[in-house]
Amino acid sequence: MSANVSPILIVGAGPTGLSLAIALRQRGARVIVVDRQMQGANTSRAAVIHARTLEVLEELGVTAKLLEEGIIVPKFRVRDRDRLLLDLDFGELPGSYPFTLMLPQDQTEAILRARLQQLGIEVQWATELDTVVQQGDRLVAHLRSPAENIDMHASWVVGCDGLRSKVRQAAEIPFVGGTYRQEFVLADVKMDWPLVRSEVDLFFAPQGLMVVAPLPHDRYRIVATASQPPEQPDMSYIQRLIDERGPSSEPGRINEVIWSSRFHVHHRLAANVICGNIILCGDAAHVHSPAGGQGMNTGIQDAVSLADPLLHAMKGDRSPLLAWADTRQKVARSVVRLTDRMTRLATLRSPAACTVRNGILSTIGRIPSVRDAVALRIAGLDY
Ligand SMILES: Cc1cc2nc3c(=O)[nH]c(=O)nc-3n(C[C@H](O)[C@H](O)[C@H](O)COP(=O)(O)OP(=O)(O)OC[C@H]3O[C@@H](n4cnc5c(N)ncnc54)[C@H](O)[C@@H]3O)c2cc1C
Repeated sequence: MSANVSPILIVGAGPTGLSLAIALRQRGARVIVVDRQMQGANTSRAAVIHARTLEVLEELGVTAKLLEEGIIVPKFRVRDRDRLLLDLDFGELPGSYPFTLMLPQDQTEAILRARLQQLGIEVQWATELDTVVQQGDRLVAHLRSPAENIDMHASWVVGCDGLRSKVRQAAEIPFVGGTYRQEFVLADVKMDWPLVRSEVDLFFAPQGLMVVAPLPHDRYRIVATASQPPEQPDMSYIQRLIDERGPSSEPGRINEVIWSSRFHVHHRLAANVICGNIILCGDAAHVHSPAGGQGMNTGIQDAVSLADPLLHAMKGDRSPLLAWADTRQKVARSVVRLTDRMTRLATLRSPAACTVRNGILSTIGRIPSVRDAVALRIAGLDY
């Protein structure tokens, strides 16, 4: 690519922006990546990396390192306290990765950052995009860092800047959807847990959903719906969640809360993902419930599949880019639908509705073809 062409500016060095930067750099593109935070300041949200994402990340040269650091989990199990409702086995999935990988998002980002550095690109940290404006045939990005304000010319700007994307706002693209009423509690803990570390457990309780998943270094990730939780839920708060929703015959016992937080969760889709030479990717384009662990996975897949169409568009052929936008919006719509259904199903409150749901789940859970279809869908291998 000619050195005279203005660079592609990627706004946001989360998993989406980092993956895109690597994929473009590997193809020889000039790329600048900025992030308003200091390096490594992102919170540890996503923990699940699905099979399709591991496949996609192979070409970026990071899958082996992710596998080295993460925990391999071949099973997702849905439970009502001690009763098993649904047993999803990823061990039967086609492809090289018949499992999901558990790794906190900050570690996944660290691995992606190291790969980007290997390719000679340093993220410009503490550099915030204020807005982007079109000047003739070029884009000018107004950036702010502690030292200076910069007006940067860019051939393309890709907004990988998450839920409150300034790139999306600059392009005046509506973000259509809503916000779930209930909040989510997230905690990384050390605990004595009666169930095996080779499974992710989803508990459907009348009080709400609780997910318990193993993480490296003998830790567990707990995600639960809650109404008006404290800003940083403490050990007794998390223990109560475990006691009320987890196994009752042999309850889990928390020994240490390493990190905890609470989140409001939205379900929103950008009306478009392309506006002139501005593109949206990842959470900037779609956000949804964490049920099924789809968000980061979808963002990474958006990013890696964007590299070739974007380079074609830079050479004057926009049709692959338009096809990319169409495909990724269909994927995002279907992920929002899937996670919305899973969230509503998991958070039913009426005892009668819970009994019917649990009965249906345990019945369909006995049909192997249904179980396989659900596992394929969650793993992202139904493309
Ligand atoms: C409770 C919870 C649990 C989750 N669990 C999972 C899971 O298990 N699996 C899964 O796949 N997903 C999960 N997700 C979703 C996942 O965290 C997101 O989908 C993922 O972080 C999106 O990556 P991203 O790079 O698109 O955006 P982000 O991770 O939000 O990164 C955006 C980056 O842009 C930067 N930025 C923002 N504005 C600007 C600006 N103006 N200028 C410069 N930089 C800017 C930010 O600092 C940030 O680094 C979960 C989410 C939540 C809330």
